[in-house]
Amino acid sequence: MLERRRFLQHSVLGSLGIFLGKQGFSLSNGTKAGAQSKPVVISTWAPNQKANAVAWKILAANGKALDALEKGIHVTEADPTDQSVGYGGLPDRDGRVTVDSCVMDERGNCGAVMCLEHILHPVSVARLVMEKTPHVQLVGEGALKFALSEGFEKVNLLTPEAEKAWKNWLKTSKYDPMITVEHLEERNKNQPKQVPGQQHNHDTIGMLALDMHGNLSGACSTSGMAFKMAGRVGDSPIIGAGLYVDNEVGAATATGVGEEIVRVCGSHTIVEMMRNGLSPEAACKKAVERIVKRNGIEKARNLQAGFIAINKQGEVGAYSVIKGFNYAVHTNNGPATVDAKFLI
Ligand code: ASP
Repeated sequence: MLERRRFLQHSVLGSLGIFLGKQGFSLSNGTKAGAQSKPVVISTWAPNQKANAVAWKILAANGKALDALEKGIHVTEADPTDQSVGYGGLPDRDGRVTVDSCVMDERGNCGAVMCLEHILHPVSVARLVMEKTPHVQLVGEGALKFALSEGFEKVNLLTPEAEKAWKNWLKTSKYDPMITVEHLEERNKNQPKQVPGQQHNHDTIGMLALDMHGNLSGACSTSGMAFKMAGRVGDSPIIGAGLYVDNEVGAATATGVGEEIVRVCGSHTIVEMMRNGLSPEAACKKAVERIVKRNGIEKARNLQAGFIAINKQGEVGAYSVIKGFNYAVHTNNGPATVDAKFLI
């Protein structure tokens, strides 16, 4: 997560919202960047282009959006260099890696797991909660028990690098869930030295897809805030906050300070804004504005929350509170990375 911030700081395109790849999808402000097409897959954070590529293969072969998302998210969950999702994720203050995930499909079905330990692919457990139980959410021990009963294996999600980072953090035990550039610089000092090629750390993966059948689905997976209080759950597995899908309208997902995203029910708010006619980008901006208004500009300067959205027409958009958020999109014309606009 921390190196990710550096990576983003080095991005020079900032608020311009410039495409870095082939242009084959529509910007949500109405600018046609190329012929409109299905399918489309979009993920929070540029490095998740790798996850998009896997999802894309399934979408391009006429697969279902949810199948594509699940397989795509597996890439990030299994990546030990991603310190904010699954294997390799930074632990809570007690040294335990706990993961949160949710899925939502085109029929409004949804499932989530929270504070789940020892499972490599929480997104798949979330899907099974949706498909095989009468419930929407399972947490902690119960979620683990369910995963094991479904044949998932128990694995150790704490990598030596993440453990080292935690032990360094313990020296000060300073916890501040606010995400600021200065704060990140400070926390970076606690990080193990990155090896070349490992500069791709980023946050939560939130992923949305429109398949060839015109159906929308979404999924989200995270290990949450580094060194969080034991039991803390953010927005990512909360339907309506970290993810929301309405197949008649569009879908949205989030990354950043989960507490702020929950407080404005971010993803649901965005879908409702799109229902009222706003473009994906304009709808994301509205949710960001609510966060900034609630906190005031000075406090909001010290926190990051970013949203991505897609509408039924396959238009995509994003917005974040402060500079540094980007996303990855893949269409028939190939992959592209976009730097999100930001409010302050
Ligand atoms: N939204 C996630 C959470 O609050 C963290 C993140 O996206 O960085 O758990």
